Amino acid sequence: MSNWMQDLINPHLISLKPYESARRLFAGGNYFLNANESPFTNDYTMDESKFNRYPDCQPKAVIQGYANYAGIDTNQLIATRGADEGIELLIRTFCTPGEDNIVICPPTYGMYAISAETCNVGVTSVPLLEDFCLDVKALKQVDDANLVFICSPNNPTGTSVARTDLEAILAHFDRKALVVVDEAYIEFDDHESWATYLSTYTNLVVLRTLSKAFGLAGLRCGFTLANTDVIQCLMKVIAPYPVPEPVAQIAAQALSDSGITQLKTQINTIKKRRSELQAALSSIPDISIMGDAQANFVLFRCKDKDALMAYLVENGMLIRDQSKQLMLENCLRATVGSEQEQSLLISLITQFYQNGNTIK
Ligand SMILES: *Cc1c(COP(=O)(O)O)cnc(C)c1O
Repeated sequence: MSNWMQDLINPHLISLKPYESARRLFAGGNYFLNANESPFTNDYTMDESKFNRYPDCQPKAVIQGYANYAGIDTNQLIATRGADEGIELLIRTFCTPGEDNIVICPPTYGMYAISAETCNVGVTSVPLLEDFCLDVKALKQVDDANLVFICSPNNPTGTSVARTDLEAILAHFDRKALVVVDEAYIEFDDHESWATYLSTYTNLVVLRTLSKAFGLAGLRCGFTLANTDVIQCLMKVIAPYPVPEPVAQIAAQALSDSGITQLKTQINTIKKRRSELQAALSSIPDISIMGDAQANFVLFRCKDKDALMAYLVENGMLIRDQSKQLMLENCLRATVGSEQEQSLLISLITQFYQNGNTIK
């Protein structure tokens, strides 16, 4: 960076690096099992007649559709450019830069810390226990947080947070901090959503997205679910037109009755394939499954991790290296894909270990 640029940029941003999203990390590849996307693409129609007008800030059909889907009121949610924007919006709305902190529970999704850092907000880390459960005792010792981010099912451990643990945390932070439950993968979870408990807990916030189960990662549409007070605070900060008209049209179709019926079929298919992937991987002696598989991916620890990763990349198969995360040495995460992608993944991994260390 040139000197004058170094002087001009916000000082707290100098040491930051752009987020290494799965998409940015590899330019090539033919098979993408690295970003927990859906293998399904669905058909939508488009009405161009309103493209000359600014869209509604919160398009009615989308808000009504998602409220119905989540079983909440229309004044209990806000639509954003993906759940990622929801994370940033919460931080910008509820944390004062240079003063306040958020809590994260690693190993977990990277964007909570990244968004906090870009806003010059502190990050307090309360790692998960060895079995990837929340360290409730340690969390109850935190008393200077404004937001507590809890991912359930957690990316990348695939574990779902225990109901009693979250209840204890909501009670501890009652009237002090918002507890944000990131439910990006809730559709794949065998446990129920926290969305129906919004009226029980005034400090509960739930993040949702159309990027995973709905198969619309390219759309950039997510939702923050919370009590009306919280939503009204977020409305002060959100951009005037956060949901582009084409996004609103497609989201409304995805949330229609027929869209939801199709979604349910696709979720069932993915869950079935997830068990197949889990079974295939656990039958390989050099691999051990880690955490749980309550989302649309499987996390595993493996022998010769770097060589396996290189072999997969050579064959156009991309999965995600999670080994830099706390407690996840030699761990890789594979998304449940199409039948073809998944059988290719399994046969590549099987070949790699059958040929021993001769492939390198
Ligand atoms: C993918 C993901 C998101 C982001 O979703 P977008 O709506 O695409 O921004 C949020 N949280 C977790 C845990 C995720 O894995």
